[in-house]
Amino acid sequence: MIHSQLLRWLWFKALLWLYSIAHVGFGQHSVQAQELTSTLLGRGTHWQTPIYIQDSGVDGPTVIVTGGIHGNEPAGSRAAQQIKHWPIRKGKLIVIPKVNVAALAADKRYTPGAEDSLRDLNRNFPFPDIHDSPKGEIATALWNYLLDQDPDWLFDLHEGYHFNISHQPPPGKDKSVGSTIICDRQKQSGVMTERMLASANDLVTRPDRKFLLKERGPKRTTLASAVIHVLGKPAMILETTHQFQRIPVRTAQHRAMMSTALVQIGMLDKDCANVFAPPKSSSRDIIYVALYDDTGASENGVANLTKAFDADAKLEVSHLSSDQIKAENLEQFDVVVFGGGSGSKEAEAIGVEGAEVVRNFVKNGGGYIGVCAGAYLCSAHYTWSLNLVDTHVLTGKRLVEGQGEKSMWYRGKVTKQKMQLTEEGQKVFAGDAAIFDVKYQNGPIVSPRNFPGLKPYTVLSWFRSEKVLYPPQEGTMVNTPAIVMGDYGKGKVISISPHPEATDNYEAMLPSAVKAVSRNPKF
Ligand SMILES: [Zn+2]
Repeated sequence: MIHSQLLRWLWFKALLWLYSIAHVGFGQHSVQAQELTSTLLGRGTHWQTPIYIQDSGVDGPTVIVTGGIHGNEPAGSRAAQQIKHWPIRKGKLIVIPKVNVAALAADKRYTPGAEDSLRDLNRNFPFPDIHDSPKGEIATALWNYLLDQDPDWLFDLHEGYHFNISHQPPPGKDKSVGSTIICDRQKQSGVMTERMLASANDLVTRPDRKFLLKERGPKRTTLASAVIHVLGKPAMILETTHQFQRIPVRTAQHRAMMSTALVQIGMLDKDCANVFAPPKSSSRDIIYVALYDDTGASENGVANLTKAFDADAKLEVSHLSSDQIKAENLEQFDVVVFGGGSGSKEAEAIGVEGAEVVRNFVKNGGGYIGVCAGAYLCSAHYTWSLNLVDTHVLTGKRLVEGQGEKSMWYRGKVTKQKMQLTEEGQKVFAGDAAIFDVKYQNGPIVSPRNFPGLKPYTVLSWFRSEKVLYPPQEGTMVNTPAIVMGDYGKGKVISISPHPEATDNYEAMLPSAVKAVSRNPKF
């Protein structure tokens, strides 16, 4: 008797457990109703490129967003990467962030290797009385895909080289269309374009850099003009300006205009201009990386880091300005990265508030990677440093005979130095004990600071040679740590003195470092 009661009870418990699993499973699924699927345009070709599709399952418009048709306009492509994560409430959002992959990789406007009549991809689309069908493989594949999807809207993200409002072109040259919304007055609501304009201009303080509406429509044979004049559907080109504005500024402008447009169309029920990544959950199988790209970070350094991260399909990088180092932004990411330039200027740019945001992000489980200046920034050495890892920095002024007082951190121009991974470093970077050359440019020479509350760091790599500019520096760099890793709260920090991201064949050390400090259990 007792036996069968126990069995019944066990059965009951098992059913409850099954129900809870099913219920939790269902609940999680409905939280991320907007599942992102992807396919490839031009599958199997050298120009194949991902198409991301978010189908809400609710009746509504189909909106297509394209970026990277011109390869030297990266902000449109990067903004589109972020926009694909926005939680739409109805209809279907289709995002093609890197339409022209080869041009993007070459950082060129025109398609590399294309014959003259095809080189500008945004002049290859059909237009009444010019050409009925698209020209060239990429335009043809994209146009056929559009015909198949029959979009209600198209937004094509671009960048100009100068602000249209203030550009004074040389005689005979057209004004750049930078910082404009190019639309067709006949084809879309004036309220919507005015609101999009206002949302972009909310981000712009200088009058000579404000956005303008260009209502005469996109140039003939552009993708947007084809959607307007062949499909008879509304389309716009959203142009930011790459001169004088770094990527975070430009992508923010694209996102602001797109968020306003999608709210207006009814696809979004809230502003998503600051949504960079999908909600954090155990099912994320991409590591989302915030890369600081503003005052103090060298543009060349940011470009090298971006390239290293982009090469790893498991990483998705977003560029953040100093103003964007906010808790609600950083918490969307797994890892934050500060690269080369000037650590003190990076600290000054993010300010005391930004520094606290970064410290809290790591304390709560975020990862931090500092390269060169970023390694100075995370040290426990300076009044302005973040105190994330227990490093003392070799610095201070010494009298150098015949040269006066010299700062000891400065060792002159970029050189190659020898480096060797420790056993821990071999695990993190999937390398061996062989000594190899790595670019070095005045990265910090560190030793334990023994700062109260900070745990000792683990050395991942040693310098096995040194760069000496002044005699007192002799013997102070060789056999000191080149890369160290430490814990801060629930988070992890890797401080990298040299530049593997700028060293041929060692670029992948950067994605490896990101994976090592990410708390995503899948990596
Ligand atoms: Zn363009």
